[in-house]
Amino acid sequence: MRCHDCHRDIGVEYNYWVQDDVWPDPDPGLLCVACLEDRIGRRLRHEDFDLTVPLTLMGASLSATIRDRIGSIADAPAEVRAKTIEILSRRGLRQS
Ligand SMILES: [Zn+2]
Repeated sequence: MRCHDCHRDIGVEYNYWVQDDVWPDPDPGLLCVACLEDRIGRRLRHEDFDLTVPLTLMGASLSATIRDRIGSIADAPAEVRAKTIEILSRRGLRQS
């Protein structure tokens, strides 16, 4: 999977979901965190992420960059955390 803007292979870094008003319009497709931050002109913050989407918690588990931006995932609903752990373990991925 490649970032739309830098064409870098973004590995696990596509595992995040941001609030609708943060995402560029029109939808560019996949963006790495660095390119999204370039487009919006600032670093992503905790409140930019949608913590009700398991994908976002997967990103926080798998990518140091996403984890750094989100910080604590303690605000995520318990059922989303449980769902995320289930998905990660089904895929044989470690929950950190
Ligand atoms: Zn990029």
